[in-house]
Amino acid sequence: MGESKAVVVFSGGQDSTTCLVWAMSRFDEVLAVTFDYGQRHHSEIDAALRIVKQLGVRHKMVDLHVLNELAPNALTREDIEITEGEQGELPSTFVDGRNMVFLTYAAIIAKQMGARHIVTGVCETDFSGYPDCRDVFVKSLNVTLNLAMDYEFVIDTPLMWLNKKETWALADTLGCFDLVSHETVTCYNGIPGAGCGECPSCKLRARGLDEYLVEKALSKAND
Ligand code: ZN
Repeated sequence: MGESKAVVVFSGGQDSTTCLVWAMSRFDEVLAVTFDYGQRHHSEIDAALRIVKQLGVRHKMVDLHVLNELAPNALTREDIEITEGEQGELPSTFVDGRNMVFLTYAAIIAKQMGARHIVTGVCETDFSGYPDCRDVFVKSLNVTLNLAMDYEFVIDTPLMWLNKKETWALADTLGCFDLVSHETVTCYNGIPGAGCGECPSCKLRARGLDEYLVEKALSKAND
C-alpha cells in the first residue's frame, strides 16, 4: 500500500527539481510540495510554479512564513549578509530547523494521501556544514516520524552521496538537463539558470556543471 506514491519537497532549485523528475520516473503518483517561508527572492517560488506546470505534476504550496519570524536568516532577510561559515560556524543561509519542519509537514501530507515515500534533495557531499542535510539526521528523523504517526515512511535522498557534477549527470540521465539548466533557481540573488555567477551557490553549481560537461565531452571523444 502506498508504495507507488511519493511527496517531493520541492523548492524550484537544481537539487529538488532533479529529485522531482527522479520521483516521477519511479512512482505512479507524485505530489510536489513547496514551502513559502518568505524567501527574499520570489523568483524561487515563480520557478517552482513554472517547473511543475512544465512537468505536469501535482503541486501544493504550504505557507511557512512563521519560520522566517522565528529564525531570521539570510535567505529571507535583505539585511542579513550571505556569508560562508568560517571556523566551525554555520553559514548565514542556514535556517534552524528548516529541513526538519519541511520533512515533518511533507510526512503529514504524505500520510493523508496514503503515500509512504518522501523525497528530499538534501546532500551530505556538498552540505556546507548544514547539520540537517546529513544522512544521520535524515535516518533519525525517519524513525521519529514513523513513531510519531505510527506509519512506515521511507525518506528517499537520491542526492545524498552525489557531488554537484554527479547531480548534473543524474539530471541528464533523467532527461531533464535543459529544464534544470534554464528554469531552476539556486542563486542567492534569485537569478534563474546560471544565476549571478558570484554567490557561493552559483559558484558551486557552475563548478559542478563545468566538471560534468568536461567529463561528458571526454567520454564522447573516447566513444
Ligand atoms: Zn548567484
